[in-house]
Amino acid sequence: MAGGSPQIRIVAMGHVDHGKSTLLGRLLHDTGNLPDGKVEEIAASCERRHANFEWSFVLDALQSERDQAVTIDKAQTWLRHAERDLVFIDAPGHVEFLSNLVAGVSDADAALFVVDAAAPIDEQTHRQMLLLGICGIRDVVVVVNKMDTVDYDAARFSAVSEAVATSLGRAGEFLTTFVPACARDGENVAARSTAMAWYGGPTVLEALLALESRRQPADQPLRIAVQGVLRSDLKRVIVGRILSGRVRAGDEVVVLPVGRTTRVRSLEFWPPNDRSEAAAGESIGLTLDGSAFVERGDVIADSARPARPATSFRARVLWFGPRPLHAGSAIALGAGTRRAPVEVDIIEGVVNVETLALESARSVRPNQVAELTLRSPEILSVEAVSLDSGLGRFILMDGTDVAGCGTILATFELSAGASNLVPVDHLISRESRTWRNRHGGAVIWLTGLPASGKSTIAMHVERRLFAKGYQVYVLDGDNVRGGLCSDLGFSVSDRNENVRRVGELAALFADAGMIVMAAFISPYREGRDAARRAAGDAFHEVYVKADIATCEGRDPKGHYRKARAGNLPDFTGIAGPYEAPIGPELIVETDTQPIAESVAEVVEYIERHVAIVSSVARGS
Ligand code: GDP
Repeated sequence: MAGGSPQIRIVAMGHVDHGKSTLLGRLLHDTGNLPDGKVEEIAASCERRHANFEWSFVLDALQSERDQAVTIDKAQTWLRHAERDLVFIDAPGHVEFLSNLVAGVSDADAALFVVDAAAPIDEQTHRQMLLLGICGIRDVVVVVNKMDTVDYDAARFSAVSEAVATSLGRAGEFLTTFVPACARDGENVAARSTAMAWYGGPTVLEALLALESRRQPADQPLRIAVQGVLRSDLKRVIVGRILSGRVRAGDEVVVLPVGRTTRVRSLEFWPPNDRSEAAAGESIGLTLDGSAFVERGDVIADSARPARPATSFRARVLWFGPRPLHAGSAIALGAGTRRAPVEVDIIEGVVNVETLALESARSVRPNQVAELTLRSPEILSVEAVSLDSGLGRFILMDGTDVAGCGTILATFELSAGASNLVPVDHLISRESRTWRNRHGGAVIWLTGLPASGKSTIAMHVERRLFAKGYQVYVLDGDNVRGGLCSDLGFSVSDRNENVRRVGELAALFADAGMIVMAAFISPYREGRDAARRAAGDAFHEVYVKADIATCEGRDPKGHYRKARAGNLPDFTGIAGPYEAPIGPELIVETDTQPIAESVAEVVEYIERHVAIVSSVARGS
């Protein structure tokens, strides 16, 4: 925003020896930012040593003086100016420091790029350009330096500018200003050059002062990255950082990736104040209407313009992990506060740093830039970087290490109508079924006391998921006792055998790719554990929790009454034990919330934890 920021952060880049330090030293000097006598002091010391004076010595001297003051960041140089302060971030080109460099560049508003008018553009320069693109830098001031060595030739300036513009165009989308200069002599640095009267554009200083801070995306749709939820008896405060847009109490928002719509009840600030609005860049707390289930990694978005759920996206990635990436490599994505597993689906190509062209490749080696399609078994809240919403950039993790970073070029939405079919293996693997059904199989095992609400929840969840296009089916006590288990009674061993058979049956359903809702009292841990063993990872235990008094009060089938009268000898809760689950995947409390809430929680859980597949075909 013009005039919005009194300070602008500029990453200074360029090939070694092209004159970056000279330019910065000269800029500081010509704007009166050097301590009095500094230049004379260094010049005298050069003379004593019979060395040529170099402006870069000035920077070095400042640097070493700062090193003694621990509070000042070594890699930054401040230039104070009446219009606005310029903060230069030094970007050493060493590959070993790539992840630090990425952090530095990501932090900048714009870049200053120094090229030598007499030297060709090489790989190192290309790498730096790629990095600018990947870190989302838009504004670049290109200084064509050492114009004295090419006789201040206008044609040479045009040719170099054109070559740089072509390379930058391949590395990303930039707004560029080209300035011909002779840094050593201060020509077109802060003062206009007399040697280049043919040039009518800004000096380096003017070009830098005209830069805008990276667009504060406050006028973009709201996106809040949820950092955590603080719970107290009175309320649940969601803590997050506003990535883009603005938020007010009363706004309708949607919690992603689940997609539940609710309203902002209040904004909370630390220390407290009575502001009613917050905007991009701020970290805030907020409370929501109802009992929406929100957790770290979620995104709260403008309900009218939400991020579309996606499980796969195409990205430009700088990979600096120690091992090469291949199709199928499993890594992790960090986007906002979310961590999610991702897999390399397709390597679209690797950028050749000599030509900046995308070339086909079977692997991505360390320090290469590549275009990849990544996919996740989880629903992601990511968006193309061009939407400027704050969800377009990410990091990649390999184990616990940051091993790459990237920008999202396009996302493949879950709901997009696929015209191409996903390739299916001849032998039908579980993965093939998952692709066909667009979701994996699962056993959602609902356990709880009689009348706790298991069947009601199961039936409603089934209807909701069916309407959303899932393959789903309820197995319920009553529909297996009549057939599959008609030979069994209600003794401990018969109950365990009943649960074991249902567990095996449910596992087969899940293997066939369906989501099975199994609603069984299943009072013994032993029986439930057998069901878990049968289905393996696909098993999810949901404890439908209600106290016995509530269940007895409901008593829809009159069983509690009969049991109290002694007519149901092994009735769970009255005459037989109920072993509550230890560490179930989900607990829904039907005695403290309406059934609809519990249904919504189970649906949310399933949508969050059962693998959902993007419907967009690979390679399209
Ligand atoms: P850096 O590695 O990019 O920081 O480069 P330096 O600023 O250390 O400059 C490298 C060499 O180029 C030094 O010897 C400078 O004196 C020289 N140099 C810098 N700017 C100019 C210029 O405009 N003209 C000429 N002829 N030499 C320059």
